[in-house]
Formats: sequence, structure tokens, C-alpha cells
Amino acid sequence: MANQPTRGAARRYFSKQIRHYNEDQAEATLAEFRWGCTDRQACPKCGVLAQHFRIKTRRQWRCISAECTHTFSITSGTRFDNCKLTRLQLLQLAEAFEGSPKGITLVRLARALCINEKAAQQNLMKIREAIRDNADRRPLRGLIHIDGAHFCGILRKSMRRVKADESSVLSKHGTPAARARVRGRSINANTPDNIRRAENKRVVIALVEAFPASNIFACGSDDTRRGASRIIVASCYTENMGNVTELVHKYVEPGSIIFTDENVAYARLGQEHEHHFVNHTEGYCSPDGVTDNLAEGFFSRVRGAQHTHHGFRPPYFELYAWEMAWREMCRRETQESNIRQLLEWMLSPGYSHDWRHYHGGEKRKSRRCVRREIVMPRPN
Ligand SMILES: [Zn+2]
Repeated sequence: MANQPTRGAARRYFSKQIRHYNEDQAEATLAEFRWGCTDRQACPKCGVLAQHFRIKTRRQWRCISAECTHTFSITSGTRFDNCKLTRLQLLQLAEAFEGSPKGITLVRLARALCINEKAAQQNLMKIREAIRDNADRRPLRGLIHIDGAHFCGILRKSMRRVKADESSVLSKHGTPAARARVRGRSINANTPDNIRRAENKRVVIALVEAFPASNIFACGSDDTRRGASRIIVASCYTENMGNVTELVHKYVEPGSIIFTDENVAYARLGQEHEHHFVNHTEGYCSPDGVTDNLAEGFFSRVRGAQHTHHGFRPPYFELYAWEMAWREMCRRETQESNIRQLLEWMLSPGYSHDWRHYHGGEKRKSRRCVRREIVMPRPN
């Protein structure tokens, strides 16, 4: 029960609290999360923290500063600026999102909030974007498990069982020279749809910091069972040495100990860090206690989300990966602290880059502008 350390009333406290809220109470709760108090507000334009003039009929404030006089609401200047949800629906949105360990479907959220599926999608994506943008990216230290897993672009097998010919066997099991010669042919049905799916393939590389333990090589001891402390993820086209080295340079402190599997992408990590690897053909944990199970455990959570969402689309895959990383990291916290963190991030200053006016037709821009920091370039 490592994922549910808080039990009973502590788990449901927030749901119970907001069940009978009205709009005023919901707005006061959001104001506390955003500004840290309910009696003063920070003007999003000039930044003055004061008791501004209240416009009751519109649930807005007018800035007290004579030079500014900006009119703003609880969501002004945030990702949820101009949002059509009521204050209570915003609270319920955060509560529903937090309460779904494997992600929440659009239909379920739409019914819970009495909104349509398009609105549900846009608001959920804004939450995922807030998680990605506010995630803790300080370099990891101590014991770090690194591994990659394939998602998106899954090939479909042929509808008919056909005997593999020579070239398809070579494409799968031949020498590199033979594979290059028959490139493009494979045992999977080589249909135009599968060729298109293969283009969508992505690899999530997870860097998982373990809780500090007295003996990191004590396989199966209580110390190693405390799980992941922090996770940093990156979406790449393949699990390759260039991307892995760049990620480790950026996100791993010198002097850390790295556990990986025997993939060639990790071959150079031993030059700068203490690097141990486990041979997966022999087992998940080597006799001397080396394992990358913290990364594998995270991937199992992402696979759970994959079932919930019926797969991921590549342009948005990194958002789901960050969502799952957040869920993995806050699995031991109470419902209230998780929702508080979510709402603080949701109401942090700055508009949504990718999801503002999405259904007004601005989605193409976001698809072109992938963030270099997270989405690694295609290797040559
Ligand atoms: Zn102002």
C-alpha cells in the first residue's frame, strides 16, 4: 500500500470540505491559494498587493492604484484567464484530476463538471502544462535509476498469419549490415498505416532519484522499497547515447551513482559518474543489488495511463509523462496538499502557451513550436 499512506478521513478531507461550498467560498479558497490571503489581492498588471475595489456583480476587483485601475478576477493573467468555468468548477476540476491515479478521461470529467468534452480536454491539458512548467528540475543527486520505454506508434500485427520470408527474418534478427540492406521490411505487417505509426514512436527517458538509503546495494531491503523521490522525464525519438548524455549533464549532479540496464545508450555514463548496470537477460536485479526498478515502476504507471487514454498522441506525449511523474512524486502526500499544489500552479502568472484559444484554431502554432529542452531532436 505504498501509494496510499494517508488513510480514511485524511484522504477525503478536501472533497468533504468543498462538497457544500458556494461560489463565494470557492472564490475565497482560490484566492488563498493564489495570493496567500483572502482579504488582499495582487493586481496582475502593476503587482500592488492591497485590498482593491470589489465589483461584486461581476466577481472582479478594480486596482486601487490611480495609474493602473486595471480590472481583474481570480483567474486574470493565469492559464485559466477568460475561462468559462465557475470558481466551484475550478475547484472540482483540481479535485477530480488529483483523485484519478491513472489519469481521468474526458467523458468522466465532462460529466462530473457538466461541461462538454472539448472544454474538458482544454482544461485538463492546461493542468498538465502547469505541471510540466512548474516541475522541479533541479539536478538529481544520490542514487539515480535511468531507463527508457517506448510509447506511441505501436505497430499492428497482420490480420492474417503469414509465414515470414527471408528478408523479414533478417530485418529483425540479422547483422547490422543485413538489417540495413532490407530496411523497411519487417515481420509486422508492412502496411502504409504501420509505416505511418512507426513515425509516431517516442521513447520516454526517465531519470529517477531514489530516497536516500543507508545501503544502496541492499536489494529488497526496506531502504530501497521507499521508491522514487524525484523524477525528470524527457520525450525522445530513440533511446540514444547523445540524448542520454545531454540529459545526464543537465539533470544529474556530479558524484551521483547511476543504475541503468545494458543498453548501449548508457555506455558512456561511467566516464563522469559511478555507473552500474543490470543485465536484463539474467534478471531484474543483479546479484550485487543493481536494478533500475524505480524507472520501470514509473513506466508501469505511464502504461496504466496509456490504457485510460487509449494511447498518447506524440505532440502531447510529454505532457502526459510529466503528469505521471507528478503523480508518482506526490503519491504519499495528502489530498489537500496535492490539490493546493495543483491550484497554486494552475493560478500562477502566465498564459497557456499551447492551449490558449486552442479551439479557436491556434493549435498549429503549438505543434510547430516544440520545446527543445524537453523534446529531444531526431538523431542523425
Ligand atoms: Zn494595478
